[in-house]
Amino acid sequence: MLDITTRDIKFLPGVGEQRATLLGRELNIRSLYDLLYYFPYKYIDRSRVFKVNELGGQLQHVQLLGEIRSFEEMGEGASRRLVAHFTDGTAFVDLVWFRGIKFVKNRLKLNTQYVVFGKPSVFNGRVNIAHPDVDDASLLKLDTMGLQPYYNTTEKMKRHGLNSNAMLKLVQNLFSLLTAPLNETLSADIIQKNGLMSLDDALRIIHFPRNPKELQLAQYRLKFEELFYIQLNILHYAKERQMRYVGHRFARVGEMFNRFYNEQLPFRLTNAQKRVVKEIRADVNCERQMNRLLQGDVGSGKTLVALMSMLLAKDNGYQACLLAPTEILAEQHYATLCRMLGPLPVRVELLTGSTKAKERVPLFEALESGGVDILVGTHAVLEDNVLFHNLGLVVIDEQHRFGVVQRAKMWAKNSVPPHILVMTATPIPRTLAMTLYGDLDVSVIDELPPGRKPINTSHIFRNRIDSLYSFIRGQINEGRQAYVVYPLINESEKLDLKNLEDGYRQLCNVFCDYKLSKLHGKMKPKEKDDEMRRFASGETQILVSTTVIEVGVDVPNASVMVIENAERFGLSQLHQLRGRVGRGASQSYCVLVTDYKLSEDTRKRMEIMTTSNDGFEIAEADLKLRGPGDMEGTQQSGIAFDLKIANLARDEQLLKFVREVARGVVEADPQCCSPLYRVVWERLQRIKSINNRNWGAIS
Ligand code: ADP
Ligand code: MG
Repeated sequence: MLDITTRDIKFLPGVGEQRATLLGRELNIRSLYDLLYYFPYKYIDRSRVFKVNELGGQLQHVQLLGEIRSFEEMGEGASRRLVAHFTDGTAFVDLVWFRGIKFVKNRLKLNTQYVVFGKPSVFNGRVNIAHPDVDDASLLKLDTMGLQPYYNTTEKMKRHGLNSNAMLKLVQNLFSLLTAPLNETLSADIIQKNGLMSLDDALRIIHFPRNPKELQLAQYRLKFEELFYIQLNILHYAKERQMRYVGHRFARVGEMFNRFYNEQLPFRLTNAQKRVVKEIRADVNCERQMNRLLQGDVGSGKTLVALMSMLLAKDNGYQACLLAPTEILAEQHYATLCRMLGPLPVRVELLTGSTKAKERVPLFEALESGGVDILVGTHAVLEDNVLFHNLGLVVIDEQHRFGVVQRAKMWAKNSVPPHILVMTATPIPRTLAMTLYGDLDVSVIDELPPGRKPINTSHIFRNRIDSLYSFIRGQINEGRQAYVVYPLINESEKLDLKNLEDGYRQLCNVFCDYKLSKLHGKMKPKEKDDEMRRFASGETQILVSTTVIEVGVDVPNASVMVIENAERFGLSQLHQLRGRVGRGASQSYCVLVTDYKLSEDTRKRMEIMTTSNDGFEIAEADLKLRGPGDMEGTQQSGIAFDLKIANLARDEQLLKFVREVARGVVEADPQCCSPLYRVVWERLQRIKSINNRNWGAIS
């Protein structure tokens, strides 16, 4: 039997070696299965024929039936074109070709009935259609043509003749190989209860719909299935883990927690902080391993929650560990914890890549003997030779630099895996969180400590940069500091650095009476930390940097964040950068600098940034503008998924619904052995192996 998931695309009639290479490289289509699941991105109704006098500039593609009355060649050089004056008796429209003029003129005849298909536009007050499809009317049966599918292809593919039409032919060839119906991939009860179309029908219709109604049903079935398996994968994984591992039980709220709360806490917890601490306590008080994601906007006070959770561990006889993505952050956390704990007898230690070998020996001994209560560190803690006496809780700050693999490494540090609390300031919209971190429970700090002044954000064009400089000067004269950030453009690291270097030089000229720091990803960690320290201690007044400062750094005295080439940043990243200021009590400012010419998209982003300070609102907007593929954290999450038809921004309702269906399956059949769901579990394995082949992903 033909196995479409393994059959190489090159064996499909009409493909061959060369096209197979292109399909693989450009669209990741390597097997017949990949092509079957390469869905059209739009459909055009070809059963409808428009009248020429109905045309205007706003129409999408239209179809006309009429005759060419005359040809005319016009223009010189690049604007040389062939115009055919076409009419159906209601009015005239110009058909225009800029290329292949001779070929078109030889092929088309005057006064013959043609079906013309294309996108009208208005030029100099006249309606025209450039490079239309023109077919002999006697050859097309319009009323049976239904909806015409359109497939996305790349420029490179088009240059080799692989346009949408060619893709359509390949899909037709594929279906003529599929003589038997495709095997169903959802269980009968799910199909029946949810009124779903069969897989075989859905796949045929998604490529060749006859009418919008059945197309909609096919789309629904395929979206349902796509989201269902993502959710099933995550929920099954979480269930398995829950059954396999018991967790440490922190039953007591003990002395250190209480003394900290009563004697050391310099302010009152916000209601959100209180709620989250309660959620964590409930989690660690039952015999299950906690895996919780704590989301809270920059400055919302996550560190305090982390500390209180770690004190719970201490009070119950366990050690805790706080992981940070960079040395400077680890040092800051270490200093913060020591300061907050004051005289309380809790031993906190620091371990980073720069911890000297000499200091490591006693530190490791103290860790193993249980003398250390809280270890703050970087990736260095993950090393196999770092052993704990009794690790009960791991807090990971700024999740997206640590993936699933790193989390798993920390589990292995104790025979019973420690509770895990992941903290992130990148607000992730709920739909995405359900998909990326669906195995984690989520807590949210949705409230800032009182007294914070909202950051004043403005957007200026580059030609007003001088007034910005005098503003910065004013702030520095008041004793404040400023960040100036340049984007990483990725295309060329050299160019990126040049951008930064040019900017730095210019700023050094303008601010020659002050000291400036410079920071970028190509510097050694030690150099970066030194430079960052100079700025943090106030030795330098301006920090010129690429986005390396994005994560967590805390310099409360900085009051200005300038983001150069702001059009190059996504919304979430802009918000993240902005969060570096506004950490002290006085007014802070964020200034977005762009060119004068902006795309519609950029204009929207600038508008959202200048009107909203709410990380979640911004994340939702970001998801809508960019789509989930580009969202931060997607790549690092370790759970690979590539949505072919569902859209996390648009299909939130369906996602929630389908999640419950998947949960029902996991609850009803936790051992994956019921015949009722056999087809479902087999399909899940299949999807995982296909994903592994395509991305080498962990899932
Ligand atoms: P983030 O969530 O960005 O990690 P931090 O934990 O660094 O935020 O907290 C930001 C600042 O707010 C710190 O200086 C911290 O001491 C302060 N803070 C935290 N909680 C409160 C609170 N309940 N009331 C007042 N200030 C608070
Ligand atoms: Mg923080």
